Amino acid sequence: MTTESCVCVVCGSSHLVERPGFAALARVTSDCRPFPAGGRLAACADCAMVQKLPTPLWHEETARIYREYAIYHQSGGREQAVLDAVTGRPRRRSQVIVDRLAAGVALPAAGRMIDIGCGNGAMISAFAERLPGWSLSGFEIDSTHDEVLRAIPGFARLYTGSLDAVPPGFDVITMLHALEHFAEPVAVLRDLHGKLAPGGLLLIQVPNAALNPFDLMIADHLSHFTPDSLAHLVGRAGFRVESVATDWVAKEISLQARPAAGPATGVPVRAGRPVSDDGIAWLETLVNDAGKAAQDQPFGLFGTSIAATWLFGALADRVAFFVDEDPGRAGGTYFDRPVLAPEAVPAGACVFLALAPTVADAIGRRLGHLPIRFFRPSAL
Ligand SMILES: [Zn+2]
Repeated sequence: MTTESCVCVVCGSSHLVERPGFAALARVTSDCRPFPAGGRLAACADCAMVQKLPTPLWHEETARIYREYAIYHQSGGREQAVLDAVTGRPRRRSQVIVDRLAAGVALPAAGRMIDIGCGNGAMISAFAERLPGWSLSGFEIDSTHDEVLRAIPGFARLYTGSLDAVPPGFDVITMLHALEHFAEPVAVLRDLHGKLAPGGLLLIQVPNAALNPFDLMIADHLSHFTPDSLAHLVGRAGFRVESVATDWVAKEISLQARPAAGPATGVPVRAGRPVSDDGIAWLETLVNDAGKAAQDQPFGLFGTSIAATWLFGALADRVAFFVDEDPGRAGGTYFDRPVLAPEAVPAGACVFLALAPTVADAIGRRLGHLPIRFFRPSAL
């Protein structure tokens, strides 16, 4: 398939410009497993949206990734903790999202909610804790987690297969870290438009590729959003965007929208610099720098999530250990390497902060007193 036969997922333009060099980089899956090089990444010349080309090979590869999907396998299926900007304490990501949602909109004591791409129910559980009067449903490609979901108080049912299986009439539809996986996101959102009750609310969260270039390397992510491009996409699907926030969860975009009153209006396309222009070059430099740092042993990677897993795949056997501050992960192993708490890293060891630049700087400063030789990625 040529670039010309694909169209931009946001604006529909057929003018997609492929990024040379991307195919040479190792990739990673969204459930944190190394994945070989070979993808195709393009930027729209009209709206600057960065996207994978949905070639037959992309569909084949993603189907394979989902068949073997192991959600949050680094922590025994538990959702990762994020730093809550309100309390300053680590909390489950879904709890933070539900708190922010409930703080911004008046949700009644009872209603119908569905989580699209519900996985093993992290969001549904968080919603149930906060709003126990609600009827909660989920949608997934298959019924792997049905039993776990049915144990959640207030859980109504799991819909599987195609979105056609989901009935209309939901007051709230949530879609966290799912939209970026679909090959036709506008069509998906138009479908969801029809599933909302009048005045219903759509909540979407996706990675912010402008702040987190590692997102480009996730093989099963087709769309790489910025706050602007996500808002444009949602508008094209017939929604009125109420808010786009980047401070709910670091490196993620959280968007709320409701069905627009009239037919979908033309959303102006805003051109800009594609995030891949700087992002790919930054990633290439990072692999190079980490490779040089790994010449001094022992060498470890900070983190056990997407970025560290991706870099582990690129550096292969040069990684002796991982470092993680999450007490649920430190003390265990990851890809047969020990996961050490920062305090347990041997004095003089080299540790590469495989993190988005803002996060790497903050951690480097905070742990600077330890006798570790930290290596940070360059500024983006
Ligand atoms: Zn476009």
